[in-house]
Amino acid sequence: MKVLIFGAGQLARMMYLAGAPLGIEVSAVDVGARIVVDPVSKMPLSITLDEAMLEADAISVEFEHIPEDLLDQARKTGKLLPGMEAILTGADRVREKRLLERLAVPNCGHRIVDDVAQLDEVVDALGEKLILKASRDGYDGYGQWRLTCREDLPALKQELAGLDLQAVPLVVEQMSLFDREVSLVGIRSKQGELKFYPLAENLHHQGQLHVSIAPAPACSAALTAQAQDIFTRLSEGLGYVGVLAVEFFQVGEQLLVNEIAPRVHNSGHWSMQGADTCQFENHLRAVCGLPLGDTKAAAASAMVNIIGYDKLNLELLKISGCHLHLYGKSVRAKRKMGHINLVGDNYARLGRTMLELADYLPDEHFPHLRTEGQKLQ
Ligand code: ATP
Ligand code: MG
Ligand code: MG
Repeated sequence: MKVLIFGAGQLARMMYLAGAPLGIEVSAVDVGARIVVDPVSKMPLSITLDEAMLEADAISVEFEHIPEDLLDQARKTGKLLPGMEAILTGADRVREKRLLERLAVPNCGHRIVDDVAQLDEVVDALGEKLILKASRDGYDGYGQWRLTCREDLPALKQELAGLDLQAVPLVVEQMSLFDREVSLVGIRSKQGELKFYPLAENLHHQGQLHVSIAPAPACSAALTAQAQDIFTRLSEGLGYVGVLAVEFFQVGEQLLVNEIAPRVHNSGHWSMQGADTCQFENHLRAVCGLPLGDTKAAAASAMVNIIGYDKLNLELLKISGCHLHLYGKSVRAKRKMGHINLVGDNYARLGRTMLELADYLPDEHFPHLRTEGQKLQ
């Protein structure tokens, strides 16, 4: 079978690698240039985009920010999975908030702002601790501004003055004083069957994911049930097919949805070694109409992102249960270069493995690794 993925980054590459043993041929689309490329080398393939769409059994995406005309062209083939509405919802925070409201899914208090003059009222209504998010094209914390006190509002307004908020409004949210961040990665098949990976705990630094631990430690059955119920409502509400990720803030025993990602997700990378079937294979199985794979997980896994760093000492490969995944990119600040998966028989052992790994990596580039390792061991 042939699957065409819009986007030619590491997620398309990992789908390609997962598809090969199943005889699923994955090609990627450089959506800027609108050409079909090899997902590993990124070299153009001798096929036009139109031909590739015609040939494909399924068309999917590795990121949500795809030009709408291209998505529409894919939709018309009847092969786009997940569907157009799901992708547009993941790409636009205003649509996303509307969906959450329609399905009565708990999320942070918020307002939609299309003129900076509205911000004073928003501060009156929501308080002065706010996070402002461009409704489109944001990822890894880009396109976000924070307000911590009312006195900073005039300066913030100036900073926002150049933006066309009529075209791309802001979603202004209350800063949540969450206990932690968790995410649920799951899969919905064409027949509506659902499978879930365990909740992962996600540790961020400067708006970017650095470490995921799965299953998230100290998760009650009720918390997992709450996450799965929200996932079910969202995926059924969207008629979703494929892997979907839902990011949550955990406040006590309550989950608030932060955002959804209509695709395979960084907080599911641990599943490559830590689960029976990884998220990349399961996404391909779902969009190809094949039976879904088991999501049963190892006792304890961690995923450590390699961000803006390329001085790895490959001796770290001798650590037991340690697996390196490099994406073949040149280094740049804040760029995801690869990740390291660690698998353990229990949390204590995983913690010790994290500390072993931390000894090979500079703390300043790998926030959370040592401190989380210490907590778990
Ligand atoms: P991603 O790469 O996950 O797509 P993004 O740029 O879409 O990131 P968000 O997930 O909305 O951004 O926010 C990034 C991070 O910023 C969150 O994971 C969280 O740590 C923090 N954050 C976002 N919104 C809030 C909020 N309302 N309250 C507190 N922290 C927040
Ligand atoms: Mg996002
Ligand atoms: Mg996010």
